[in-house]
Amino acid sequence: MALQTDHNGMFIEGMTDANELMSFIQYKFGEEAIQDTYKGLLEKAKEEGRKKDTTPLRAFWGLLDQAFQEKSDSLKCGKGCAHCCHTGVAATQFEWEGIVKGAKEKGIDLKEVIERSQKSIGKVKTALNSQKKFEQIDWHQAVMNHPCPFLDDEMNCIIYEDRPLDCRLVVAFRDACVSKKLEHAQRGIWIEESVAAPIVAKLQHDKTPKMKRKKFTGTQPLKLLQHWLIVWQEKNKKKRSSK
Ligand code: SF4
Repeated sequence: MALQTDHNGMFIEGMTDANELMSFIQYKFGEEAIQDTYKGLLEKAKEEGRKKDTTPLRAFWGLLDQAFQEKSDSLKCGKGCAHCCHTGVAATQFEWEGIVKGAKEKGIDLKEVIERSQKSIGKVKTALNSQKKFEQIDWHQAVMNHPCPFLDDEMNCIIYEDRPLDCRLVVAFRDACVSKKLEHAQRGIWIEESVAAPIVAKLQHDKTPKMKRKKFTGTQPLKLLQHWLIVWQEKNKKKRSSK
C-alpha cells in the first residue's frame, strides 16, 4: 500500500494500518494541528453530548460524519454495498457498549444476531479455544469473507448509527469497490479521522470508574464483533444461572 496522488490530493489506496496512517497524517498536518484537533473534537463531543442529551460517543460520531460531509468529495459507498462488512470488524469495549445500547433502543435481539452468525462466531470460538496467545491469532483472517453479524439479508447495517470506528474509516472516495479486496477503500485522510481512535479511547477512559482505570495509553484493546457477542452471551448465561 502506498501513498498516491490525483486531483483530489494524496491518498492511500486500500486499507492500511494505523501506523502508516499516522505517519502520513503527521507528514501532512504536523503535530500541533493534530493535538489541537484532538483536544477540540474531544471537548466538542462532550459538550454536544450534554446539549443534545446523548452520549459523548454518539455526539462524536456526528462530528465525524460532519467532517466527511464538509471536507471530502462525496463517498462512493452506498446502501447495499457491503464488501467491507465481510472483512472482520473490531471494536473497543466502549464502542461495544454503545452498540448494545443502540440495539436495545431499536429492539434488535442480540440472541437472534448470534443465532444467524453461528458460522463466524464458531470460527472465533475455535480461535479462542486454541493454544495460541491472543496476539498470535490473525483475528481478521478468522472471519474473512463471512458477513458481519449486524449485516441483514439486504446488505444493510442494522446498527448503522452506532457502528464502530473500524467501519467508519474504511471508505471509498474513488469509485465503488467491486469485490472484498476493497480496491477503492482507503483508511483515513482527514485529520479528524487520524485522531478518532484516541478520542474514543479517552471517552472510554473518562467513563471508567477511577478505581478501574488503567494507565491511559491512548489506545484500548479491540475485539472482533463476533468476540463481543460471545462475551455478551456468556455474561447473560452467568446472570441467568445466578438468579
Ligand atoms: S457494523 Fe455495520 S457497517 Fe460495520 S461491518 Fe457490521 S454491518 Fe458493516
